[in-house]
Amino acid sequence: MRFSRFFIPTLRETPGEAETVSHQLMLRAAMIRPVASGVFTLLPLGLRALRKIEVIVRQEMDRAGCSELLMPALQPKELWEESGRWAEMGKELIRFTDRKEREFCLGPTHEEIVTDLARHEIRSYRQLPLILYQIQVKFRDEIRPRFGLMRGREFIMKDAYSFDISKEKALESYELMRQVYCRIFERCGLNFRMVEARTGAIGGKLSHEFQVLAASGEDTLLTCDRCHYSANIELAEVRRPDAEEPKQQKRIPEIELVETPGLSSVEEVSAFFRIATNQLIKTLIVTDGREYSVVLIRGDRQLNEFKLQQYLGWKRIEMASPEKIKETTGGDVGFSGPVHLSLRMAADWDILEMGPAIVGANQRGKHFKNALQGRDFHISEFSDLRMAQNGDRCARCKDAKGVLKEYRGIEVGHIFYLDIKYSKAFQAAFLSADGKEQSLEMGCYGIGIGRTMAAAIEQNHDERGIVWPLPIAPFQVIITELGARENKRVAEVSTGLYEAMQSARIEVLYDDRDERAGVKFSDADLIGVPIRVTVSVRGISQNQVELKWRNRQDVEMMPVEQVVPYLKELLAKRGLILL
Ligand code: ATP
Ligand code: MG
Repeated sequence: MRFSRFFIPTLRETPGEAETVSHQLMLRAAMIRPVASGVFTLLPLGLRALRKIEVIVRQEMDRAGCSELLMPALQPKELWEESGRWAEMGKELIRFTDRKEREFCLGPTHEEIVTDLARHEIRSYRQLPLILYQIQVKFRDEIRPRFGLMRGREFIMKDAYSFDISKEKALESYELMRQVYCRIFERCGLNFRMVEARTGAIGGKLSHEFQVLAASGEDTLLTCDRCHYSANIELAEVRRPDAEEPKQQKRIPEIELVETPGLSSVEEVSAFFRIATNQLIKTLIVTDGREYSVVLIRGDRQLNEFKLQQYLGWKRIEMASPEKIKETTGGDVGFSGPVHLSLRMAADWDILEMGPAIVGANQRGKHFKNALQGRDFHISEFSDLRMAQNGDRCARCKDAKGVLKEYRGIEVGHIFYLDIKYSKAFQAAFLSADGKEQSLEMGCYGIGIGRTMAAAIEQNHDERGIVWPLPIAPFQVIITELGARENKRVAEVSTGLYEAMQSARIEVLYDDRDERAGVKFSDADLIGVPIRVTVSVRGISQNQVELKWRNRQDVEMMPVEQVVPYLKELLAKRGLILL
């Protein structure tokens, strides 16, 4: 492709509306342009990078025996009513009524369509296992569309659905997809982690996310430095403390009521008592709208609402209102405590290890000092209820020696084992080998293609622009021609190299523009082409061109005739061109 003919309207200035590096660079490098909030046009350069990712995804899916199809974005309400998600999905689902007053939505995901297909087409165990996939546009009216392609309202996803005869077989399909996903992100040249994850709106029982590590990531992950345990902070487990009894001190002073007027926050109270926040117990009164429960958490820890919800078996968790706190504890909000409280009480198991602590006294402006678990108050239920954090002990390590490390990540892929959640609702069944009708066992598997591209940039850039990993770069090589107007040889050599590279099927961008060297170099750096071949008057006088990698400082001079064979070999070795 000649730069002069290609549509690359790069920008010098960083656009004000873009908060993240990938969003800024995608705008500056002329990959995307905004149309509406969370809606973008992909410019030619952006589309090329996107297609590169799609090709890798497609090759790996096909290699694993998955069948590609294309399902519609337009989906009838009736199918969404069958799954119950027409009511469940809320405003993220974009709905509309057609001219015949029939209701539709724009698909945010395709479980409904694919399960409907399966119930009509799959009859027998002989057709299974089956994995169907597509690379297709999705619509979600996100509350906060942002960061460019990272969180759009219209975006491209690879989604796949597996159908199996049993749970066991479904887990084999899940495992296969897990491996396929690892290969895909490895081939994209990304540094990622596979983490245990929540199942969210899709539903199901087992789930992993694929997270590209980047400081700007919205997600927090915890990874064990010893075993392979990695999990999203939303559910990352914390090891139960070894000590089963509170630390025994010789003489623990008696519990004592202390006036703490107006002091209710952890910081205020710990400052008042001149203690560290880990010597204080937070007492929270929570409800699901019907029942109430007391939760105890060490002062310096954060409650993990998801863990608590699982533990209590509730559908949702809310903090009780000040009125209800008064009614149930007798005290004011901010002064709750476990002493003389007769509600169900669950404590995070950090509390197991605590000695005498500061707790609320269930009276306005009062706290207890030296409140001791087992003496002044009694807890019957201990569990892992708090947010994990950097330095916590791994719950999965057999030798108990692993420590969790915290990372930021961008979720680029998500896989779920669905069980028979959808097939049951849709009565999607098959005849088993012994002639019985059984529900299809399902799994679903998504990769955000545009988000993967954005994540690649978040992970690979410098102050001058994008530094594409070679496998997903929109072009592999850029020929930068300098001084072609003054020197005909420069133009001849550049054109010759360009044509030879094209014949070799090297993906090459030929910067044939009549521009200053500075402009050409900064554009090449901005759009991030991995290998730059510079053809200049001085180099040509010695029959040489300059070779430079975008991710390195040094340059290398090379005789003109060696360049194409060298690049061919290099790219072929990495499986990036066919010889
Ligand atoms: P998130 O928690 O980030 O909203 P999700 O759990 O809703 O993601 P899934 O339903 O699992 O996402 O979708 C599969 C993949 O699609 C995600 O891993 C992500 O890469 C991508 N994706 C999801 N929502 C968006 C979006 N709004 N814009 C771009 N990509 C998205
Ligand atoms: Mg989402």
